[in-house]
Amino acid sequence: MGELIDGKIVSKAVKEDVAKEVAELAEKHRIIPTLYAVLVGNDPASQFYVKKKKKTCEKMGMESVVHELPESTTQETLEKLIAELNSKKDVNGILVQLPLPKHMDEYEIIKLIDPMKDVDGFTHHSIGDLYLGRDCLQPCTPSGIIRLLDHYNIPIEGKDAVVIGRSNIVGRPISLLLQHRNATVTMCHSRTNDLQYKAAQADILVAAIGRAEIVKGDYIKEGSVVIDVGINRVEDHTKDKGYRIVGDVEFSTASERASYITPVPGGVGLMTIACLMENTLKACRMQNNIQQT
Ligand code: NAD
Repeated sequence: MGELIDGKIVSKAVKEDVAKEVAELAEKHRIIPTLYAVLVGNDPASQFYVKKKKKTCEKMGMESVVHELPESTTQETLEKLIAELNSKKDVNGILVQLPLPKHMDEYEIIKLIDPMKDVDGFTHHSIGDLYLGRDCLQPCTPSGIIRLLDHYNIPIEGKDAVVIGRSNIVGRPISLLLQHRNATVTMCHSRTNDLQYKAAQADILVAAIGRAEIVKGDYIKEGSVVIDVGINRVEDHTKDKGYRIVGDVEFSTASERASYITPVPGGVGLMTIACLMENTLKACRMQNNIQQT
C-alpha cells in the first residue's frame, strides 16, 4: 500500500506560513492583503467555492470581498467592474469565479485582469510567464501539486511524468511545471490511443480528467507516484447528501501499486486554496514592492 500524500498536512503548513507573513505585513507596513472575488449567477458549486475562499482569507488575517452579480449581468458591466478593480490600490487580488454564464466571453474577461492582481494565474501574461519558466502568479492547482511533491521529497528531475487531461487550468500548466523541473512529460487526453499503456509508463502520473475512478490499478506502474486531481460526485445513498466525492483514480486498486498517492478528498483540492492564499499575499507584496523576509 502506497504512502498517502496528505494535502491536509501540506496545506496547513502553507497556510501557517501565509498567516505569519500576513501578520508581519500588518505590523511592519500596515497593509492587509485583500482578495476580491467576483461571482456571477447562482451556481451552487461556485457559491460554495467562493465562500470557502473568503473564509480561508479571513482565517489568514487577509480581507476578502465577494461581489455578487446576477446571472443576467452583461459583458460590458463585468468588464467595467474589472477595470475598476484593476485601478483600486486596496484590491490586491482579483478572482473571477468560473464558469461564467454562457452569454459571457470568459476569455475576454480574464484578459482584462491586471497581471499583478491575477491570483488565479489565468491571464495571457501569467500563462506566458509560466510557459517561459519566469517567476509569476502561477495557477493554484498545478502549483499545489508541485508543493505536494516537494513536501514529500519526491524527485521530479529525469522522471517520466504522464499527465492525463489538457485543460488550461490543470493539465497544460502542470505539464509545463513538471517540464521546468526536468521531468519528461507525456500529455494524454480524450483522444489518446491506448491510455492505459501510456499511463503505465509513468513514474509520476497526474490525473486531471473529471471522470470518476477511470484510472484503475492496472494503469499504474509499480512504485509510481499518483496525483489525483479529479473531484467527481458519485451517487451514494448511505450518505446524508446522497453522494460522495471520488477522484479520477480508483484509489483502492491504484494505492496497491503506487509508492505515493493523493486521496480525494484530502489531497490536491486543499492545496488549491492554500496556493490561492499564497498568491494573494505575493500579489500584495509585488504591488507594494515589499520583498519576502
Ligand atoms: P476539463 O474538463 O477542462 O478537462 C478534462 C481533460 O480530460 C480534457 O483535456 C479531456 O481531453 C480529458 N479527458 C476527458 N475524458 C477523458 C478520457 N476518457 N480519457 C482521457 N482523457 C480524458 O477538466 P479540468 O478543469 O482540468 O478538471 C479535471 C478534474 O479536476 C475535474 O474533476 C475537476 O473537478 C477537477 N479539478 C480539481 C481541482 C482541485 O483543486 N483539486 C481544480 C480544478 C479541477
